[in-house]
Amino acid sequence: MLLSMKAAVFHRPKKITCDHVPDPRIENSSDIILKVTSTAICGSDLHIYNGLIPQIRPMVMGHEFMGVVEEVGSEIRHLKRGDRVVVPFPIACGHCYFCEHQLSPHCENSNLNYGPEGALLTQKGAALFGYTDIYGGYSGGQAQYVRVPYAHFGPRKIQSHMKDEEVLFLTDIFPTGWSAVDWGELKGGETVVVLGAGPVGIMAMKSAWIQGAGRVIGIDSLPYRLERARKSGKAETINFHEVDPVESVREMTRGYGADLVIDAVGMEAEKSLFEKAANLVHLQMGSINAFRTAVSLVRRGGTISVVGVYGTNYDNFPFGQVFDKGIKLRGGQAPVHRYIDELMNLVKDKKVFLDDIITHTLPLSRVAEAYHLFNSKEDDCLKVVLKPH
Ligand SMILES: [Zn+2]
Ligand SMILES: [Zn+2]
Repeated sequence: MLLSMKAAVFHRPKKITCDHVPDPRIENSSDIILKVTSTAICGSDLHIYNGLIPQIRPMVMGHEFMGVVEEVGSEIRHLKRGDRVVVPFPIACGHCYFCEHQLSPHCENSNLNYGPEGALLTQKGAALFGYTDIYGGYSGGQAQYVRVPYAHFGPRKIQSHMKDEEVLFLTDIFPTGWSAVDWGELKGGETVVVLGAGPVGIMAMKSAWIQGAGRVIGIDSLPYRLERARKSGKAETINFHEVDPVESVREMTRGYGADLVIDAVGMEAEKSLFEKAANLVHLQMGSINAFRTAVSLVRRGGTISVVGVYGTNYDNFPFGQVFDKGIKLRGGQAPVHRYIDELMNLVKDKKVFLDDIITHTLPLSRVAEAYHLFNSKEDDCLKVVLKPH
């Protein structure tokens, strides 16, 4: 093993660089050390990059990664050196109340900051890889090696003939898009609107068809993302800079609105003037505009699934409309452990292809450039995969 590996280290907002850091070591008997072969930058990494989720000390980024088992702790029986695995992004123990109820993002044991409160600066649910001290402070997988705790519960073996790119997104964005649709409990033939044609939005579009949607509509403002929604998500598309998305969806649905609306944008939506003021006064993070649009887009009695990240409480939350329309509201981090085996089978059986959203593949050494590219959406960047070796 190397004496000092390369990793993507967050220093402060807008500064993530490829540095040499100490190699990870087995710390508990249920750990494994993984040699990372592929890792991706996620839209939610940008919340850290842009300072929306605070992090003081330097930290190794990355929660979407896969690789080859390098070393196993003494308790690990089902994995051995040389096995290829993908790893779910929530760090979960496998035996607490929430793990036993298939709610791995709420694991009680992985995060020292675990607690019942929900807002950004108080206690949180399960730890996540490479996702700030609030989420447990674990080093992430945008690195040459990573320590994976509770390896009896998280990592899933992959067949030798499958390419990294075919299965990498089982770590997060495919289960995230899938759960957003699953929460809508489609019976068949429904209209599904997806706000945001980024990687998660497109995974939600793919999932919607598999789960029986009759119509899938993607909403975004950038032409290259809308084109990807049409090609990879087989969606009809609406550019909200050109037309009013609420009016358009109502016209397309005989005035009703969508059966299921998926908010795959979260707090990084364009802010209203009101929100710019509220952010200063009330310590709000980002914008609630995407959610407000979702409430207007959904039909009475319909469902909104929120998988875009929101960090704090928000003024102007449209609760009157949520109540009046009888909206079912679901949201949160995806319980990846619950879905990953079923979704792995869809990939194996070629019922879905996940790699068609990758626009850039770069060596880990160019991670600073990769974050800039992904954040600025330059060069029609949709999803970046990093190769650490
Ligand atoms: Zn992610
Ligand atoms: Zn647990």
